[in-house]
Amino acid sequence: MIYGYYCLCDFLFGIGANASAVRPGDGFQLRLCGGVDRPMVGREVDAVQGKQRMISAIEALQRLKRGNQRFAEDLGGHRALNPQVRRNQLTAGQEPHAIILGCSDSRVPAEMVFDQGLGDLFVIRVAGNIVAPSQVDSVEFAAERFGTRLVVVLGHSNCGAIQATIEELGSPVGEQSRRLQSIVKRVRPTIEALLQTELRHDLEALAQHAVKANVRTSVNQLCSGSTVLEQLIRDDGLMVVGAEYSLQTGLVEFFED
Ligand SMILES: [Zn+2]
Repeated sequence: MIYGYYCLCDFLFGIGANASAVRPGDGFQLRLCGGVDRPMVGREVDAVQGKQRMISAIEALQRLKRGNQRFAEDLGGHRALNPQVRRNQLTAGQEPHAIILGCSDSRVPAEMVFDQGLGDLFVIRVAGNIVAPSQVDSVEFAAERFGTRLVVVLGHSNCGAIQATIEELGSPVGEQSRRLQSIVKRVRPTIEALLQTELRHDLEALAQHAVKANVRTSVNQLCSGSTVLEQLIRDDGLMVVGAEYSLQTGLVEFFED
């Protein structure tokens, strides 16, 4: 177990763990208010605080991968704590180890597909896992408030929002649906770019590529559309990763290129 990384203000006044961010692979340090770092034995911090530091993005990613493996293999292992005990623990606050921006699709509940429990994930769901201002604000909120260092944009196979956009682009002007307009207009540029390629001749392949491309668009928008997130990525180990869930296999493929 690893401990440490609490702001001195937190140490003195018991305020949250939002100043606990460190780069993946850093050693033990106590991060002081005012930006002065000095080494400290992690166990001492734990003895006083009784709290763990926020885990790094890499550690959080490994946790999600292991959880998804359990889910896909139907092992359902994340039930170690009594639910009432866990609820009691969480009344004082939360320290979610990953932020998930996922699709609203009923078949892709993040906590289930990653086999995580209460308080483990900060989840934002919107059809098509698009990035609009309220999604950016929600990610910023969790990254700043809780020190969460991993953001996953989670798309999925057979996404209805992607399909609706493809259908709209194939409809004659004037016959386009008014459904999902605020979603479609954000997915549309990604699919229009794909329609410039040979994929326009194969709708099934187009839909599959569009899911991945739409996830990558959302990742790029989070990485470069917010000064808060840009700073956290540059200086504090925040990682934004794209991923796709397969309705068929239950497996999540992370885009780590
Ligand atoms: Zn979807």
